[in-house]
Amino acid sequence: MPRPIQATIHTAALRHNLGRLRAAAPGARLWAVVKANAYGHGIERAFEGLRGADGFALLDLHEAERVRALGWRGPILLLEGVFEPRDLELCSRLGLWHTVHCDEQIDWLAMHKTQAPHRVFLKMNSGMNRLGFAPRRYRAAYTRLQALPQVDEISLMTHFSDADGDQGIGAQWAAFQRATEGLAGERSVCNSAATLRHGQQAEVRGDWVRPGIAAYGGSPDHPLHDAAQWDLRPAMTLAAKLIAVSALPAGASIGYGSTFTAERPMRVGVAACGYADGYPRHAPTGTPVLVDGVRTRTLGRVSMDMIAVDLDPVPQARPGSEATLWGVAGGGAVLPIDEVAHAAGTVGYELMCALAPRVPVRAG
Ligand SMILES: *Cc1c(COP(=O)(O)O)cnc(C)c1O
Repeated sequence: MPRPIQATIHTAALRHNLGRLRAAAPGARLWAVVKANAYGHGIERAFEGLRGADGFALLDLHEAERVRALGWRGPILLLEGVFEPRDLELCSRLGLWHTVHCDEQIDWLAMHKTQAPHRVFLKMNSGMNRLGFAPRRYRAAYTRLQALPQVDEISLMTHFSDADGDQGIGAQWAAFQRATEGLAGERSVCNSAATLRHGQQAEVRGDWVRPGIAAYGGSPDHPLHDAAQWDLRPAMTLAAKLIAVSALPAGASIGYGSTFTAERPMRVGVAACGYADGYPRHAPTGTPVLVDGVRTRTLGRVSMDMIAVDLDPVPQARPGSEATLWGVAGGGAVLPIDEVAHAAGTVGYELMCALAPRVPVRAG
């Protein structure tokens, strides 16, 4: 028997979430962001649930090849553009649209030999200060691109640093609007948080929204809103079985470092999931987990292959019982990945992406 751990990718949830995002940004076209192997879900596995999108956005050229290999003929956008000049050959061959965020990428385009001109998304740095042209340099970059025979349509994009937080999008949105005023081209500015929060405003949603996390059922602004409040459903479940159940006397400790000590006699289960499966090692005692669909908590440190769970709320649990680390339990109870991430001091994005290759994955 293989080790009893399993991840499940929920096609119906991906479809539902996509529908939610469409409703949040009515009329806009929708990039399904599938970078990082579809946020850990697996591009091939997520494709079925996401193929209702208008395009796929990602970073890695091999991932773009995988999307084309699935038979997708629609738009694919490279969110960081090309990394070296010869990447442009693949863009020409596969018809990839690509972001242009720096002068070097324009230089490479100017030297590129292609029959079919490329569609590009010109990126503005409106305040996040990672990639893109500063507002005062944006028009010059646009003009340069416009003059190139290698370039077809130019679209305008930026990325928000605080769409999920208190600061919001105000200053960045104003900078983008000011610097792009009068420029021809489609606009794309909204990630998940901006799509859900501002997608009803026609100007902000623009022509293309670019949600990632929400498509996978994560709340972009947890804990302010949880996934259920946004009507998003988990697209990934990570579940394992209990491989041991024992009675712990008062005073006994569990796991490396003996960080948890029982104050009274208690029942403890050991689930076949550890940090080598992608479960966060920093999840402290008290991190929520479902056993047979009943909410309980982890105890002590997460090991490489195991984690201990408190069985006091689940007296019927025995070896073979289902432990749901995140996602949907057999009976339908939901443990949002955002809650587990929050307990571990991180975000749902990181947990999804960290699902380890050794975990068998199925669609369901
Ligand atoms: C990752 C990414 C997104 C999606 O962000 P979410 O917060 O997952 O919705 C959108 N745009 C760009 C440029 C990205 O890199």
